[in-house]
Amino acid sequence: MLISGRDDLTRYETDVLGRRSPACWVARPKDLDEVRATVRWAYAERAELVVQGANTGPVLAGVPRAGRHQGVVSMELLRSTIEIDVLNRTVTASAGVDLDSLNEALARSGLTLPIDLGANPSVGGMVAANTGGARLIRHGDVRRHVLGLEVVLPDAHATVLPLLRRLRKDNRGPDLKHLFIGSSGTLGIVTAAVLSVDPLPQQVATALVAVNHGDDVLHLLTLLEARAVEHLSAYEMLSRPTLEAIARYRPPGMRWPFEPSRASDLPPFLVLVELDTSGSANDRRQTLEDELTTLVAQGSALGWVTDAWFGRPATLWALRHAAINALHQEGPMVAFDLSVPRSQLFETRDQIIALVADRAPHARYADFGHVGDGGLHSISIWPRDLPTARRTDERDRLRDAMYDLIAAADGTFSAEHGLGPENESAFRRFSPEIRDAQAALKALFDPRRILGAVDLS
Ligand SMILES: Cc1cc2nc3c(=O)[nH]c(=O)nc-3n(C[C@H](O)[C@H](O)[C@H](O)COP(=O)(O)OP(=O)(O)OC[C@H]3O[C@@H](n4cnc5c(N)ncnc54)[C@H](O)[C@@H]3O)c2cc1C
Repeated sequence: MLISGRDDLTRYETDVLGRRSPACWVARPKDLDEVRATVRWAYAERAELVVQGANTGPVLAGVPRAGRHQGVVSMELLRSTIEIDVLNRTVTASAGVDLDSLNEALARSGLTLPIDLGANPSVGGMVAANTGGARLIRHGDVRRHVLGLEVVLPDAHATVLPLLRRLRKDNRGPDLKHLFIGSSGTLGIVTAAVLSVDPLPQQVATALVAVNHGDDVLHLLTLLEARAVEHLSAYEMLSRPTLEAIARYRPPGMRWPFEPSRASDLPPFLVLVELDTSGSANDRRQTLEDELTTLVAQGSALGWVTDAWFGRPATLWALRHAAINALHQEGPMVAFDLSVPRSQLFETRDQIIALVADRAPHARYADFGHVGDGGLHSISIWPRDLPTARRTDERDRLRDAMYDLIAAADGTFSAEHGLGPENESAFRRFSPEIRDAQAALKALFDPRRILGAVDLS
């Protein structure tokens, strides 16, 4: 165990956006027994703990809660198992295994876990946050892939729930594993998971298309779904302010499709469209690239697409994945990870832009997101030289108004990042009935309330 004052705990205390809060200790269990021993000790001592996976979550849920004496249980050493069952199309993995390592191992068997994001999270963190990502439109979220879990409860015995099954069907009553998926590290510690995986795509076709109006972003999506829903694997939007930030940031080696890169040349919206299939070109009448070219041309003939760039998927995805880091360079920001019914996305976006102008007049607005599934990362950025008190005031007023606006649009304030101190105030807006049910679950699994950085009371 690493101890505050004796060891350097900075890495475990600092979140992905650089925010730091102190940990009293850090435990790094290597196996199930060590996880259980840590939990039994914490229960006896009433020591609060936060589970940390790869620490890529942006809502402060995987680092100690500011102002509280909490320790960190890092899962980074719990990575002994990656067992692939090719015939069952499943993989059993320890919670600390990271997504890239898992997919490298799966690729050797022609398989993949089709969760795609610009970070490299752990299996346990993906389960706890129910990660979505850019391929949710086709492959669903992590929940859709979890067949089984092993979970240690934060009770006196560190009870193990043996839910680690490889079954796609099992209806012996309520499916308890789902309580832990998306629970943001508040109900139990996931030590291993069984995940249903897919064949690796054999063909991929990717394009960036320029669109002038939000409505047309949705029209084009409807066209693609009508003609190629079985192949549509990503539909990601970057708005002009985000493109401008990427143009300023431009990590070395990133190819920029627009020439010259002046702001006036950038389209209001750029959409990354991807089709993929596990069938090879030989099996198909038309290659996917031809199919995508035809579909984009149809979108263009209908007036929805104003320009298009086709290219290597990695090159085009580099632009999309640069978005959050580029915006992060621009100044202090607050990010909302929202989703609304897709049909209302751009109407809601217009309301958000008006709201930011009203409540946070010093902030600039930028956004991007998984619009194919109604998701939007909605970001406000303040000038660095604005006094902190002014920014905090604007941020708090904006946050409250945003939560009201999202609720009125039948949306959610946490589309895919889960619950954490960052968005906890929105949790209190749930109906009392929902909060009571969540509190009862918390009391059942975590009677001493020792687990997690989020306060679900
Ligand atoms: C650049 C970037 C892009 C991203 N893009 C996306 C995206 O497209 N879609 C998306 O959904 N997310 C995205 N994320 C957010 C993040 O990567 C995911 O939420 C991820 O699943 C978190 O996993 P982690 O291992 O890093 O967990 P951590 O950040 O360590 O923890 C996240 C939560 O899970 C809990 N937890 C971790 N491990 C366990 C465990 N074993 N048992 C119980 N609880 C546990 C923690 O307590 C915390 O509540 C992005 C992040 C970054 C930095």
